[in-house]
Amino acid sequence: MAPTSSAPARVKGQGQWKLGHREPLNPNERAKRDDDALNVRTRIENIYAKRGFDSIDPSDLRGRMRWWGLYTQRRPGIDGGRTGALEPDELDDRYFMLRVRLDGGAVTTEQLRAIGEVSQTYARDTADVTDRQNIQYHWIEIESMPAIWKKLEGLGVLTTEACGDCPRVILGSPVAGVSADEEIDPRPAIDTIIERYIGSTEFSNLPRKFKSAISWQQDIGHEINDISFIGVNHPEHGPGFDLWVGGGLSTNPRIAERLGAWIPLDEVPDVWAGVVSVFRDYGYRRLRHRARIKFLIADWGPEKFRQVMEDEYLGRKLIDGPAPVTVERAIDHVGVHRQKDGLNFVGVAPASGRVSGTTLVAVADAAERAGSARVRFTAQQKIVVLDVADAELDTLTADLNMLGLQAEPSTWRRNTMACTGIEYCKLAIVETKERAIRLVEDLEKRLADVVPDAPVSIHLNGCPNACARTQTADIGLKGQIVTDAAGNQAEGFQVHLGGGLGLDAGFGRKVRGLKVTSAELGDYVERVVRRFAEQRTEDERFPQ
Ligand code: SF4
Repeated sequence: MAPTSSAPARVKGQGQWKLGHREPLNPNERAKRDDDALNVRTRIENIYAKRGFDSIDPSDLRGRMRWWGLYTQRRPGIDGGRTGALEPDELDDRYFMLRVRLDGGAVTTEQLRAIGEVSQTYARDTADVTDRQNIQYHWIEIESMPAIWKKLEGLGVLTTEACGDCPRVILGSPVAGVSADEEIDPRPAIDTIIERYIGSTEFSNLPRKFKSAISWQQDIGHEINDISFIGVNHPEHGPGFDLWVGGGLSTNPRIAERLGAWIPLDEVPDVWAGVVSVFRDYGYRRLRHRARIKFLIADWGPEKFRQVMEDEYLGRKLIDGPAPVTVERAIDHVGVHRQKDGLNFVGVAPASGRVSGTTLVAVADAAERAGSARVRFTAQQKIVVLDVADAELDTLTADLNMLGLQAEPSTWRRNTMACTGIEYCKLAIVETKERAIRLVEDLEKRLADVVPDAPVSIHLNGCPNACARTQTADIGLKGQIVTDAAGNQAEGFQVHLGGGLGLDAGFGRKVRGLKVTSAELGDYVERVVRRFAEQRTEDERFPQ
């Protein structure tokens, strides 16, 4: 019988544990409940690596293995027009993408050499620098995993929780500890979080992925992470961190909210755990597309979120604090810059983050020849060599240049990023990485006579998931199948114009109806940039 209008409305639970909403479970939640995802490590080593790909349990293959950085890559030869029409197993290749988490983007040259050698031995020499400071390999066979872990973990390099519904890599300033602009080096807080919580079952079952960023400087996109701590000076308490929660992109982009709290360095790990605990216990688990923390913040608002965290998890009030002074654009650290100790750091730009194992080994060698033992990756897919003496700069930059890593790149090379795309990603609709590399080369020729006095960022994404931040670019490109001038279906992009981080952080406006085919991309960007360069007034950012 249909309910009468006077019957009380049934409130459907959102899958919030703390409110007792534990049923019904979607398949992802069921898999996580049935067996903690971290436990798959034992099965990989003891069963799957010995018996091969066909022995892998499907719920491990498409679920739990992610907690150790493993995703099946896309089977070659399936075009983007068919991506959504196929069952997941029809897209699965028998090879894996493996993500190595590099918290704060930091490696020693010894670690970097090992990361490169793993690629040479087990990954067909593939390596991409991601915009979350990770390294991503492709073509990994399950049989190789024990040897890969032995080599990487033996040097302290982890793939633990590099993917999955858990705390992923923590973004940090690539120049933490050396920058003259930094008042607090946040690395001790990052180290403590890794030590206490990564690989622990306390946070291995979150509603969805959880992205963190901790930096004194505004170089990690604090507006678009699930949680960010960004440097700020409190008028009474001095330097500390301002806490932001609930940012994210994908199909429902949202700028993070400030909770209005000032956090001293030694309290960052506890407050981080407090925020993650609220998300774990109150996050929405019923519908996967609403399971990120941004939906909870949107419903609760920052005041309620802070109050629940203080009352139920921290057991104390946080100190109110001021907002940080916003920089004009997110800082990318490309070029040669003086460190606070008188040495230099050198930031170089691979085209759209694509390198190789051989290149990484060569970077480690070049850095060591220049007297450096430390390299960092940036959230803009760049590489930074630290601790270089003045006398070594020319040789190092020449060595890196020979590897295609320029310290003085064109604005196009410097500001173009691309996600993984159809080459390996099962969700992709279009090709991105090689397209971006060709676009950069093309624009360097086409626009050799135009030097924009404001950088123009171009982000290519293979689908709406926006892994390369479609909405925060001056020209954001979202992959889709479009109709070309001859009426044929072709790979192309929906265009978003005028996004950005830093001052006026906001999301690009989707230009209604404006779609370009991949083949037309060079023409399109040239047209837009020339028009902008001609019409730009002083202080104007890219057209919105
Ligand atoms: Fe894959 Fe889409 Fe993310 Fe690109 S944006 S890596 S295509 S999921």
